[in-house]
Amino acid sequence: MDRKIFDEDHEAFRDVVKEFVKRFGTNEARERWEANGEVDRETMLAAGESGIIGLSVPEEFGGAGMLQDYRFRTIVNEETIRAGLGSLAGAFGIQDDLAVPYLAHFGTDAQKQKWLPGMATGEIIGALAMTEPGAGSDLRGIKTTAKKVDGGYIVNGAKTFISSGATADVVVTFVKTGEGNRPDAFSLILIENGMEGFDHGKKLNKMGFHGHDTAELSFSDVFVPEENLIGGAEGHGFVQLMRNLPLERLSIGVAAAAAAEAGFLWTLEYTKSREAFGQPIVGFQNTMFRLADMQITVESLWAYVDRAIELYGEQKLTAEEAAKVKIWATEREWEVLDQGVQLHGGYGYITEYNIARAFLDARVHRIYGGTNEIMREIVGRQLAKS
Ligand SMILES: Cc1cc2nc3c(=O)[nH]c(=O)nc-3n(C[C@H](O)[C@H](O)[C@H](O)COP(=O)(O)OP(=O)(O)OC[C@H]3O[C@@H](n4cnc5c(N)ncnc54)[C@H](O)[C@@H]3O)c2cc1C
Repeated sequence: MDRKIFDEDHEAFRDVVKEFVKRFGTNEARERWEANGEVDRETMLAAGESGIIGLSVPEEFGGAGMLQDYRFRTIVNEETIRAGLGSLAGAFGIQDDLAVPYLAHFGTDAQKQKWLPGMATGEIIGALAMTEPGAGSDLRGIKTTAKKVDGGYIVNGAKTFISSGATADVVVTFVKTGEGNRPDAFSLILIENGMEGFDHGKKLNKMGFHGHDTAELSFSDVFVPEENLIGGAEGHGFVQLMRNLPLERLSIGVAAAAAAEAGFLWTLEYTKSREAFGQPIVGFQNTMFRLADMQITVESLWAYVDRAIELYGEQKLTAEEAAKVKIWATEREWEVLDQGVQLHGGYGYITEYNIARAFLDARVHRIYGGTNEIMREIVGRQLAKS
């Protein structure tokens, strides 16, 4: 079934992304990122040069001005994931969907001038740090504090599981600037690489996404100048997070749909080339039925996700809609990839194969960006109120 959300400009952009992937997403590059546990800076700079990152940066700061149009970002996800480059898709997503939007939406003019042009070129890598060792789902339970002092804040605390955390030049950090856990007790503050007392900690060893860094961060009496408080005023951090989290969840839904589609296509190709009992395995009725189910799941998934992309473009994607999309897409992705692994037989378990890596990458989609249990809370609470 064809999709309706893309026009000629998007298809022209798809060619640019395909070209980029061919040039910079080689097996050698992927193996290098996996060995180092991070996408290297040269690749990020090349992506900036080709206009593949910085899509959400406003045009006046050197980006593509597509903050409210997720179709271009969807194409980046589709093409990188289809090429078996989940880690690259992840690194690009953190920059464009998690870090840039906080500056683009809420930054002061000076903050935008200082950070956004470099984020569009890949010279500056951003990250978003909310989760702590003791608080993930319960964000208002964080303990990292930013205490007001003359000219700035002293930040103390720790964050964990931060994507791009080891490579980031600047981290949008969720901190407590007030007492208690009322929404106005929290702020977002920019903590810069190299600030005294800021330690990037160690990269965490993960089940999947081996080519993209995830790190612990610690802050020990870090002096952060007051001009780094996002938006220039205290007490807005929680509301700022609530405003951007639907985009984060949409982005996970899109990545999940792209991975499900890729998994289906890899499996179709594989079952045509693999023979058993003197015939390609695609000829067994079980294989055909499974492939049919996988395709139906992928096509119906895109219909749902594409509608969410449109709603986001119309500024109508609510927290509940984004939560539903995240649940549906990540759970269907898991089923499709699991089936893909099965139809690959033993090779499906070998990480040289895209299907095995995508399966391992996918597991976290139901956990990060808010677990699917928390997503169900969001949807269910709204239903109970209605
Ligand atoms: C690879 C990776 C990358 C990540 N990247 C980032 C990042 O860039 N920035 C960032 O800030 N964070 C990031 N995270 C953190 C991620 O968002 C959290 O792990 C996630 O929100 C869950 O928090 P937690 O791990 O503390 O689990 P917990 O909150 O301790 O939850 C444990 C279990 O309890 C369940 N649970 C909790 N509360 C409820 C409830 N009220 N009702 C029902 N069930 C509940 C959860 O659903 C889960 O199953 C990342 C995590 C991973 C693994």
